[in-house]
Amino acid sequence: MKLDTLFRDKDCVFALEIFPPRRQHTFAALYDTLQQLKGVPFDYTSVTYSAGGTGAKENTAVIAQYLKDKLQVEPLAHLTCLNSDMHDVKAELDKMAGIGVENILALRGDRNPDVPDRNVFSHASDLIETVKKHGDFYVAAACYPEGHPESTSLAADLDYVKRKMDVGAGHFITQLFFDNGKFFRFLNLARKKGINCPIEAGVMPIVRKEQLERTISLSSASIPSDFSKLVSRYADDPPSFYAAGIDYAIVQIRDLIESGVDGVHLYAMNNSDVAEKVYDAAADLL
Ligand code: FAD
Repeated sequence: MKLDTLFRDKDCVFALEIFPPRRQHTFAALYDTLQQLKGVPFDYTSVTYSAGGTGAKENTAVIAQYLKDKLQVEPLAHLTCLNSDMHDVKAELDKMAGIGVENILALRGDRNPDVPDRNVFSHASDLIETVKKHGDFYVAAACYPEGHPESTSLAADLDYVKRKMDVGAGHFITQLFFDNGKFFRFLNLARKKGINCPIEAGVMPIVRKEQLERTISLSSASIPSDFSKLVSRYADDPPSFYAAGIDYAIVQIRDLIESGVDGVHLYAMNNSDVAEKVYDAAADLL
């Protein structure tokens, strides 16, 4: 199934993102997680690709195939291009088509000083054009409610988001954010630029203090005061931090759905308990 069907049929699409293991022997843990989530009706599951250019790229296809064949869950396979040439990208697309993957999240990838750029694909829009030409894929792309860290301004960033839509992206998934106000402002600006396809809001429940620092350095998401109060209040109380982090995400998601968001993209970091609790707490609105 191509994902545009979901956006046509549902008021709010609710998706889960997972990341494949970096090493072979940890597959079992992820399979357990996915089995535990079998009863939770996420509309599709996205599978990340080689984060930072160093992860095991082949594991994305393995997990996508597992989702499709063993769990009958529709996968969205992420694909990056900065460290790939045309042959690599086409081979990856052929592999995805061969296992029945119909949906690709086309990304540039983050720069990594230890992995040289191949200088074939400079931007995600180049990859989107290639994916659309090469096969019968539905393509999604990324966007950033607080601007991409390399952008000079949100307005300039949005011009490139528009370009990604114009060359074939059917919907966008946002970088995570903690402040819904930033998302609504972005959405408003995007619509004014003519970006009229669905935009799925990315939400990550922060359930451990250590998770926060890394998440902020990777995403550049700003921290609203009610969130920082929560962090200081429960910093030395891990069980309460865990519960409060889930509650914060639930409040965010319920507000987004009640405001008519096209979709929610849950970054639950392969934690089935977090994913299930958050989904269950929003299910009455879906
Ligand atoms: P682009 O759209 O190419 O944008 C990158 C920068 O270039 C932006 O500043 C943009 O404004 C600018 N730009 C875009 N087009 C042009 C142009 N034509 N001319 C000049 N400037 C331009 N990384 C992984 O390694 N693996 C993953 O699985 C992964 N999944 C992700 C999922 C989501 C939902 C998101 C939000 C990010 C994900 N990332 C992943 C991280 C992503 O690869 C990085 O954020 C990367 O830095 C940018 O990717 P992009 O596709 O948004 O790039």
